[in-house]
Amino acid sequence: MIPGSFEYHRPDSVASALEILAEYGDEARAIAGGHSLIPMMKLRMADVGHLVDLQAIADLKGITVQGDTIIIGAMTTQQELISSAELASAAPILREASLQIADPQVRYVGTIGGNVANGDPGNDLPGLMQCLDAQYTLAGRDGTREVAARDFYEAAYFTAREDDEILVSIKFRATTGGYAYEKQKRKIGDYATAAAAVLIAKDGATCSFASIAMTNLSDTPVWCEAAADALVGSSLDQAAIDAAVAAMLETIDPQEDNRGPVEFKNHVAGVILRRAIERAASRA
Ligand code: FAD
Repeated sequence: MIPGSFEYHRPDSVASALEILAEYGDEARAIAGGHSLIPMMKLRMADVGHLVDLQAIADLKGITVQGDTIIIGAMTTQQELISSAELASAAPILREASLQIADPQVRYVGTIGGNVANGDPGNDLPGLMQCLDAQYTLAGRDGTREVAARDFYEAAYFTAREDDEILVSIKFRATTGGYAYEKQKRKIGDYATAAAAVLIAKDGATCSFASIAMTNLSDTPVWCEAAADALVGSSLDQAAIDAAVAAMLETIDPQEDNRGPVEFKNHVAGVILRRAIERAASRA
């Protein structure tokens, strides 16, 4: 299908992008890699009169690792997340997850900012950002503000970002200990039927920290504190893992669609989460 007609803007600073968004209000939309927005425009599910392309804004690009703080510009591509040696060392779960997004064609153009700002429950990075306890920096005409990834997602395609705000960057701490990103999909390049992001740290044989989030099993990503609490203080034995999986299954709310009925999705969620916990534990 062909999208409706639109005017194209290519600002070279965040300030001028914000001015254009303010000038055209509801009719304007930022475009990053376009790999979610353009298909929606072609399907006429998004009607955009003014496209504000963020590609020429240098300030929105790049990966900075300063001590144990990582800051990633919103326009950093998913391929750049994969190819950064610094990031692979500071937060290897991000590389593991990014390699499971779509296919190389999408990843060379799709951005981290577009992936997390979109509010699509099928996207892999929002759940991971909740697992990492990331903070999103949003710029508006009155300045910037930070919103935690765990507070950002309100419903499918509804987030805490105002229409006239731009996501500038994503910040989180370097990880220590074990990690795993597990994803079940119908075929290579597909969105998740279920995916799990797990971080685990150990003190001797005892789990001292855990963070667990899942993707595409509710209309928002699901970070589940009770699942993590079931692991902390345990030796990561089967009883603790069973309790963590049960806590997550209580929290998710999958819906029947072309990826399967609810019962199947609950089953897949349990299998994928167990696999992720066991792999993260083996790396901790
Ligand atoms: P765009 O499409 O340009 O924008 C998406 C939305 O975010 C728009 O509403 C836009 O206005 C808004 N936006 C973008 N950047 C900003 C910003 N900086 N500030 C404010 N708003 C902004 N994703 C996965 O996670 N996993 C998959 O398995 C997967 N499979 C895919 C398979 C195919 C065939 C395709 C085409 C896409 C797939 N995707 C998948 C989506 C892909 O990762 C997209 O690139 C990503 O979701 C959106 O990033 P983008 O840079 O393309 O954003």
